[in-house]
Amino acid sequence: MTTTSHNILPADLEDLVARFDVRRTDAPRSEDERTSLLAKPKFGTVFTDHMARLTWRSADGWTDRRVEPYGPLQLDPATAVLHYAQEIFEGMKAYKHADGSVWTFRPEQNARRYARSAHRLALPELSEEDFLASIAALVRTDIEWVPDGEDSSLYLRPFMFASEAFLGVRPALQVEHLVIASPVGPYFAGGVKPVSIFLSEKYHRAGPPGGTGDAKFGGNYAASLLPQQEAQQRGFDQVCFLDGAESTYLEELGGMNIFLVMADGTVHTPGLGSILEGITRKSIIQLARDRGHEVVERRIPVRELVEGIESGRVKEFFACGTAAVVTPIGRLASSDFDVEVNGGASGELTMALRSELTDIQYGRADDRHGWMMRLA
Ligand SMILES: *Cc1c(COP(=O)(O)O)cnc(C)c1O
Repeated sequence: MTTTSHNILPADLEDLVARFDVRRTDAPRSEDERTSLLAKPKFGTVFTDHMARLTWRSADGWTDRRVEPYGPLQLDPATAVLHYAQEIFEGMKAYKHADGSVWTFRPEQNARRYARSAHRLALPELSEEDFLASIAALVRTDIEWVPDGEDSSLYLRPFMFASEAFLGVRPALQVEHLVIASPVGPYFAGGVKPVSIFLSEKYHRAGPPGGTGDAKFGGNYAASLLPQQEAQQRGFDQVCFLDGAESTYLEELGGMNIFLVMADGTVHTPGLGSILEGITRKSIIQLARDRGHEVVERRIPVRELVEGIESGRVKEFFACGTAAVVTPIGRLASSDFDVEVNGGASGELTMALRSELTDIQYGRADDRHGWMMRLA
């Protein structure tokens, strides 16, 4: 099978899911235990009873499509990923609608990005069909784990890593693709609150174009930990990175893209190249254009942002990504400036776009762009 550019129809998906061998656990959590785990899930700490898995061998391609009990992986100490970090991942969510049906958001975009990330890390590409089927097979097996509280969802984490035990520096001849799932509650307990951002002038995220910034590669996150730790020690929530070539232009946060809303109503966001192409970013661009805003993707000098905030030309500044959806930014600082955005409050367009997007995801608004795919 090849990677296709069209949306997979649910009817096709049925056949693909049926190819997965479902090996159920003998020891699923009881309904009581699950209910208590689902009551207040802390991000990334609780996992469902199963995981989806495919194995790739250079001689056979992708094989052994299965859903198996969630549990530890046994790895040889020489497993390639532990030494050279040949690993990529995705992040998406399954949402329960009021009628009990379960949906996901633009999953073909995740599938294509996963293939692009795999290519950059010299990992084998997984077809869009296998990617979507592995998601659907797991969500259907663990359907009781999709929470139904407000702003709650089942976070899905597909990932791929070099599993061959070999210390040579070359692409691995054996690779695993897994999907694990974790129920999550609202990202902001007690309502959306603007975050503070420290601008990193000392560290970059993933290098200039040609580096790994446009791949969802685990190593990019490893590189962001020290700057994040230093920013937190100074009392900030998150780090914003500058471009790796000139340290002049805004890029993004460690795991979220950024947008500026100008006083004249135009919306600006850093152009693609060395940033990760967020699916939330792409959707926000569409929703802002639908509302009649001109959206400009370009290189944005950090000086322009700071002066714009000071002069009132920049009215709103926000970050976006699957986990937190849309997050207002209330303060931006570095070693030589410290400015408040919009009086430190959440911006109007920021919050309107956030509601509009979540209304589509939770089935409360018309899905006019055909972004949702039903999983169960
Ligand atoms: C995942 C990610 C994003 C957000 O992407 P979405 O598809 O919107 O979730 C942004 N920046 C980085 C570095 C990321 O890893």
